[in-house]
Amino acid sequence: MSRVYNFSAGPSMLPLDVLKKAQEEMLDMGGSGQSVMEMSHRSGEYQAIIDKAEATFREIMNIPDNYKVLFLQGGASTQFAMVPMNLGNKSKVADYVTTGQWAKKALAEAKRYITANEIASSADKTFSYLPDVDKSMLTPGADYVHITYNNTIYGTHYNTLPDFGDATIVTDMSSCILSEEVDFNKFGLVYAGAQKNMGPAGVTVVVVRDDLIGNAMDITPTMLNYETHAKNGSMFNTPPTYAIYICGLVYEWIKDMGGVKVMHEKNVEKAKILYDFLDNSKMFRGTVVPKDRSLMNVPFVTDSDELNAKFVSESKAQGFVNLKGHRTVGGMRASIYNAMPIEGVKALVDFMTKFEKENS
Ligand code: PMP
Repeated sequence: MSRVYNFSAGPSMLPLDVLKKAQEEMLDMGGSGQSVMEMSHRSGEYQAIIDKAEATFREIMNIPDNYKVLFLQGGASTQFAMVPMNLGNKSKVADYVTTGQWAKKALAEAKRYITANEIASSADKTFSYLPDVDKSMLTPGADYVHITYNNTIYGTHYNTLPDFGDATIVTDMSSCILSEEVDFNKFGLVYAGAQKNMGPAGVTVVVVRDDLIGNAMDITPTMLNYETHAKNGSMFNTPPTYAIYICGLVYEWIKDMGGVKVMHEKNVEKAKILYDFLDNSKMFRGTVVPKDRSLMNVPFVTDSDELNAKFVSESKAQGFVNLKGHRTVGGMRASIYNAMPIEGVKALVDFMTKFEKENS
């Protein structure tokens, strides 16, 4: 078996142990004589799978009891609409910080339903930093403030949560969930698509404080109302059963590895290897201001488009795939989520060292 080091921003690598376990259980899940894919979502066997997934997620992320964990569909993109429809119905005003393409999309979608104010943006420098924001910039009486905790395309991350006082903070953690410990008490709602750090595409996890549920706009489709899913244990309709099962295996894997704290320590170690190399290289450089660097997504460039293209093609031939950067940044991006082993990062840095020598 030959597996590549996959640096894709998502869908991305899953832990090998998880894939093996899924393979083992593929034809006969726990003596049931069927695959998880074939199980009725109303069966006792499946209920046990989703219950365990939720319980393990709650345990490893330390989710307080007054928050619901929902397994939904429609990707993080559907949350761009669900958030304003459900949380923006008191004042019909919310504040948004624009730190990348996904933040921009969240803002644009919110504007369809409420007055969504852009209180700060880092578009002036291709989103290579996070703008300073604080409670003095918030619209008085706004229902919530939305930030993108980790900006997948640009490689920025809130290494310190802004001081928004008592405001309800909503955040998109699609590309950093499970990579670090989070104090959920600081947030009203957290959402994350699974396909980066949590499992396969097809499921989106929402963690929402109880008091924010039940106040959706009248126009809200039943399926887009958090109350629908909260009242029905994410089983109002058929949930993405297999994707939730794999997420459950990933949560177990993290628990077995020592938990999210240990995961974070490993992520710090992995990212340091790459950033240290970039900071000392004469050919490659990171594109993000050091204080806002992400541990998950590391964009970097050389000064030449030709060299960038050569690097992407030669690295691919060596088994380092999906290193091409987003078209708005150019260059390269290495996404090094939980499942990327440290050996993968070390091997990439060895390859970059060799490439630099050969091409300078
Ligand atoms: N938010 C962020 C931060 C993302 O990285 C992505 C996907 N790359 C999205 C939202 C959109 O997610 P989805 O494709 O699940 O709708």
